[in-house]
Formats: sequence, C-alpha cells, structure tokens
Amino acid sequence: MLIPDSDFGDILVRRNALSRSARFSVSPTGRLTVSVPARTPTFLIKKFINSSREQIKAQLPVKDPSTQRARDAQKKLLMARAKKYLPYRLEFLARTHGYKYTKHRLSHASTRWGSCTSAGTISLNIALMRLPTPLSDYVILHELTHLHHMDHSSAFYAELGTLDPLYRRHQKALRLFSPSL
Ligand SMILES: [Zn+2]
Repeated sequence: MLIPDSDFGDILVRRNALSRSARFSVSPTGRLTVSVPARTPTFLIKKFINSSREQIKAQLPVKDPSTQRARDAQKKLLMARAKKYLPYRLEFLARTHGYKYTKHRLSHASTRWGSCTSAGTISLNIALMRLPTPLSDYVILHELTHLHHMDHSSAFYAELGTLDPLYRRHQKALRLFSPSL
C-alpha cells in the first residue's frame, strides 16, 4: 500500500506479521518505507509518519518527492505499455513453440527479469519494455523453457538453444541492463 505524502512522495507501507513496532527505512531507489505490525490501521500509520517527520528528514536519505513522483509516473507509463505488449508476446512465443503456461503476471518490484513457478505461472518484469526485442524475447523464451526444466541444467540450455540459437549472446548482453525501476 502507498500513502501519498507532500514531503516524501508516495510512502510504501509494509504490514508485516513479524514486526512488533513501526520502523522506517529507505528502499534502494530512495523511497521511504514504513514497516508496521499486521493490522495496524492506516490512520495510525499516518499519525506515526507525522510525528516522526522531522526525525526522518534529519536521519534518512529519502529522495526528494519530485524525483519520486517522476519515477512513479515513469513506472505507471511502463506498466501501461507492458500490459499492451508482454502478455501478447508471451502468448505468441508460447504458441509458436508449443508451450502451455497456466497464467502470467506483470511484476515491477523485482530484481529479476522474469520467473516461472512449478505451477506454470510466468512473471515478467515490466522493465523488459526497455530492452531491445531480441533480449526481451530471450527472457520470455528462457521462462518458457523453465516450464519443462525447473533448473539451469544442460538439458535446460539445450532446449533453450533450439528456441533462441543466440541465447548465449543475449544472456551476456542482458547484463548491460538493469531490471530495477
Ligand atoms: Zn532461469
């Protein structure tokens, strides 16, 4: 859940069954994050933020809200573009090569380009929209191959190589990009 704030931009709220008291931290992207015990009502969280405002400003490296807002806007745009492209590209590549996945998810809070569960759910990071098509296709084909091989064994790569003969080159080129938004 996000709480909009004039000082800090959108504040990320994590309700955590394990946390006993409220705690502030800053995400790697500079977003203020507050962890609170599960079931803490929102009004209390807002109160807590207000009472800690000066302390947070003095002690935490929170990015200025305009930077945060620009990033949020960019993320929204990327998500809108991803929704119109990635599910269709996934479906197209799956059909072309005869793979059946159960469902797809679009993710953005991840340091991974994609993932595939044993139940057949394929997650794709919306940051794939920033990649050249051969690289985003490589990621999708990589995840489709996981439907048959849940590891990175030689059998996995042998199959991936039949879908994307240039997979080694693509894998290497992918390191030049970051999946974090
Ligand atoms: Zn993999």
